Amino acid sequence: MQKRELYTIEGEKLVRARRTCPRCGAGVYLAEHADRFSCGKCGYTEIRKEPKQEKPKTEKAPAAGKKKTQK
Ligand SMILES: [Zn+2]
Repeated sequence: MQKRELYTIEGEKLVRARRTCPRCGAGVYLAEHADRFSCGKCGYTEIRKEPKQEKPKTEKAPAAGKKKTQK
């Protein structure tokens, strides 16, 4: 079993290495999604925990032209 660092922190940058599936073992990489990793082989899914503060995902941003106003 290889115990490599999953990622390295370089200054403010977070350099990620490719993650391997803990179930399938080395050789099988997890697909990287915005908020999670998933293995296409066994279906393993891992929720991403690292806080992403690069760009706040468009979570219902009050874009121009607000039609649906609740208040
Ligand atoms: Zn797997």
